[in-house]
Amino acid sequence: MTIINPIYLIEKKRDGYAHTKKEIDYLVDAVLNNEIKEYQLSAWLMAAYINGLNDNETLLLTKGLANSGETIKYPSDIKIIDKHSTGGVGDKTSIILVPLVAACGASISKLSGPALGYTGGTIDKLRAIKNINLNLSKKELQKQVHEIGCAISGHSTKLAPAEEIFYKMRDVTATVASIPLISSSIISKKLAGGAYGYVFDVKYGSGAFMEDIASASLLAQNLVSLTKKINKTSMAVITNMEQPLGEFVGNAAEIYEAIEVLKGKGPTDTRELCVVLGANMLLMAGISKTIEDASSLCNKALQDGSALKKFKNLVNAQDGDISIFSKPELLYTSVKKVYNIKANKTGYISKLDARLIGEALRALGGGRYKEDDIIDTNVSIRLLAKLGEEIKQDQIIIKIYYNSDIQLKKALVFLNNSWSISNIKKNIKLIEAYYS
Ligand code: URA
Repeated sequence: MTIINPIYLIEKKRDGYAHTKKEIDYLVDAVLNNEIKEYQLSAWLMAAYINGLNDNETLLLTKGLANSGETIKYPSDIKIIDKHSTGGVGDKTSIILVPLVAACGASISKLSGPALGYTGGTIDKLRAIKNINLNLSKKELQKQVHEIGCAISGHSTKLAPAEEIFYKMRDVTATVASIPLISSSIISKKLAGGAYGYVFDVKYGSGAFMEDIASASLLAQNLVSLTKKINKTSMAVITNMEQPLGEFVGNAAEIYEAIEVLKGKGPTDTRELCVVLGANMLLMAGISKTIEDASSLCNKALQDGSALKKFKNLVNAQDGDISIFSKPELLYTSVKKVYNIKANKTGYISKLDARLIGEALRALGGGRYKEDDIIDTNVSIRLLAKLGEEIKQDQIIIKIYYNSDIQLKKALVFLNNSWSISNIKKNIKLIEAYYS
């Protein structure tokens, strides 16, 4: 008879064998109940990272993590939809999409996370709004979705708590970028959150976990097929994260950009991606029958002010300071100083490295190096020219809104290497592929 214990699990995964349901359930319980030491969990994670998990193990781990704590259930007549981005730089789409699709009649309950490494996090961006409550209880979430159709909250430690322990350990043991581990991490949280369908925005490029299209496609296919196995519906879009999304990278400044897009303005790439993701969410929710109808509903809600009004309702319902809507530009101008980077020659922007720009924001104080670092939500980096754009010598291409000269110096080490200009125009495709 085999006795299941941490050493047995590590040996089995190290030698490339597949775990049984009993073994995966034991692992999740042991993590939750502190019965497996951190060094044992990290050894198992590295073995899983190197040897992989098969589809059945990934499914078992997903269900185990989802059921490790509370789960949210909505009445069957409310089709809650959700979206998830695999993370990037300047990605403020959740802040726009949640009110946008709710304004079009869908119900959305969005559980988001803080910044991770050099990538931004929706919860840190929203913290730039004074007094906003981002710790909604299960009851508060359900009530708000029932009343206004949407809510955004941080993950309650009660939902999928074992996932949080796995994730924190992966973050510090170089085991994040594994397709089965990422898929089970994302889908277990969605499953516990009670949504019926998910739209995945899988990023590729310098600012994403998946640096090339091939690995992003594999992740997208894995997410979609795992969702089918848990009897939910989903689709995935592969999008470009070679350069940051939109004009602003920075917490409060990205709220400004979100408000601009919700007014039907803002940068084209941010607006275009929100309409594509939003339209797919409306199709999934059964609000529209065709993608064309769904896209025009989204465009209409951005133009007629209804999406913006829904965002005000959300901020108000979550006790946030709605005075940001009367002077939104204060969201990026409330800093001590501004520094301009100018083009050294005439030509086309040929490089605008998302990762280096994300690192520069972190150096300015807009991200964390340690879990307890306090973020300066006011600092930001503004990209006045994007990949493929023609620029003249001495034209300002990047503006830095900052508070400390020491931090600026550190940020410039990244920023000065983040861009280049060439004579050849680079064509950029924002959306690469769809999977369903
Ligand atoms: N986002 C998640 O929620 N989990 C991962 O593993 C990676 C990105």
